[in-house]
Amino acid sequence: MAKPRRSFFFFFFLTTTVLLFSLSLSLLLQATPTHQHQDPQEGDTPITRFQNYLRINTAHPSPDYPSAIAYLLSQARSIGLLARTFEFSPGKPVVLFTWPGSRPSLPSILFNSHLDSVPAESSKWVHDPFSAVRKTDGKIFARGAQDDKCIGMQYLEAIRNLKEKKFEPIRTLHFSYVPDEEIGGFEGAAKFTASKEFKDLNVGFAMDEGQANPGDEFRVFYADRSPWNLKIKADGIPGHGSRLYDNSAMENLMKSVEIMSRFRESQFDVVKAGRAANSEVISVNPVYLKAGIPSPTGFVMNMQPSEAEAGFDLRLPPTADPDAMRKRIAEEWAPDVRNMTFEIIQKGPIRDILGRPLMTPTDESNPWWSVFKQAITSVGGKLAKPEILASTTDARYIRELGIPALGFSPMTNTPILLHDHNEFLKDTIYLRGIEVYESIISTLSSFEEASH
Ligand SMILES: [Zn+2]
Repeated sequence: MAKPRRSFFFFFFLTTTVLLFSLSLSLLLQATPTHQHQDPQEGDTPITRFQNYLRINTAHPSPDYPSAIAYLLSQARSIGLLARTFEFSPGKPVVLFTWPGSRPSLPSILFNSHLDSVPAESSKWVHDPFSAVRKTDGKIFARGAQDDKCIGMQYLEAIRNLKEKKFEPIRTLHFSYVPDEEIGGFEGAAKFTASKEFKDLNVGFAMDEGQANPGDEFRVFYADRSPWNLKIKADGIPGHGSRLYDNSAMENLMKSVEIMSRFRESQFDVVKAGRAANSEVISVNPVYLKAGIPSPTGFVMNMQPSEAEAGFDLRLPPTADPDAMRKRIAEEWAPDVRNMTFEIIQKGPIRDILGRPLMTPTDESNPWWSVFKQAITSVGGKLAKPEILASTTDARYIRELGIPALGFSPMTNTPILLHDHNEFLKDTIYLRGIEVYESIISTLSSFEEASH
């Protein structure tokens, strides 16, 4: 009977030692607040509310829209904002918050952001992309930190602060959160802006997302480039791999590729010479080639195929003439004299409802531009030269209606990390953005003169 007793004391001794060791270890950890993986801030603050939004995984291909909507609704409730949820396509919710102005007959102002984000390859990140880890240097790592959950939450924080200061808007303010921007917005912003509900908002001016700047000026975008997916296809006479003859499909396709490459160079030369920004020229980039006759070991090598196809990503700035572009494609890139056909899939509008290029003026002709500029300078901000965005946002659907819209995400001194690994935003930059939106919201909503 002595044996089990000895074991009991040994067990007791061991357990106590382990307990004491763990206790001292946890005390040690608590006494080290600078521990790298520990979040320095807890509780309900602007930063933690931002982190909570970032932790909702709304990345494609299966964005968790219900959780994002529920979270935003809870935030709006705590601020006292009117909320409406629409579903213009099943499973694609749009949430709209409204802060009524004292003169509801004046055109309203819309602040838009998207709920979704591009996917993230977790293994290539230093932190889980949906944990929203905040380091001691203030960097918050998460997919969507820059694109564009930051602005979605900054809008709400700015409203919260303005309400606390008893600010009262003259113009009505709307804040929309839309799905599917990252996959073209066809089921999101496109349907929302085409709806009667949107028309009833009587929007006079809108703001949407922009991009970070490694420098110390705020970037602002007055247009997007319009994406075209172009497929060109050549049909030709098949023949033995050894023969030289005219009009093979591959030969016809390769002639086009040469001509297109020269056009690409001519556009790129303008950029290289510093005469235009990347976003101001037409880009043409090959994205796939499809030809050949498959065999068990790869491709049949002694046959010239009868069909060959290539795909290109084209981006047209609003200054480009889409009709001239179509003509060039039909006459030079895929001419029927070389047995070629083509297909253009236009991703969104290129002209507004009045036939004008999708551009928001950034001069005195647009009264909203002056008011926006004033809102930035009044909080000590500097604006960079207005730009065309190289890619595309939902703002094009708003501009399509003839409504002036600016792309703006207040991130200075920040590397451009949208869609990249280790996307982050610094807490101080985020908080400064809230201050900037307070100024934008209050200045725009107090602006009485412009009727549009
Ligand atoms: Zn975005």
